[in-house]
Amino acid sequence: MAKHAFPTDCPCQSGKPYKDCCFMYHMEKQQPPTAEALMRSRYAAYVLKKADYLLYSWHPDTRPAELDLDGDAAKWVGLAIVATEAGGPDDDEGTVEFVARYKIGGRAAKLAEKSRFVRFKGRWVYLDGLVDE
Ligand SMILES: [Zn+2]
Repeated sequence: MAKHAFPTDCPCQSGKPYKDCCFMYHMEKQQPPTAEALMRSRYAAYVLKKADYLLYSWHPDTRPAELDLDGDAAKWVGLAIVATEAGGPDDDEGTVEFVARYKIGGRAAKLAEKSRFVRFKGRWVYLDGLVDE
């Protein structure tokens, strides 16, 4: 990746530098310890268009065969965690409710979702989500 494309602040809005945060997850060198951390890393992957990581962190039963983010016109501009349930280091499942804001065609929009996460081979993965219409 070109140096200028490497974000300083992590797009997941943890307030930490990207290199000390989701970068380690995106490189698959570390695993997020909690469902919320995984969710944040997946949001950051949408921002940075890291389709490989999104597929990697998606449960094999529910993930799409492929994911093309290059044609995705949405520009992600913010993430707010609304609520979490379980999903801790000692849990096997958890839910994270969040609101992600984005812009598409210059218009602001938001996605509100309650996502379910489970452990797959010991690491957290995204299972599915209920979108709040
Ligand atoms: Zn991060």
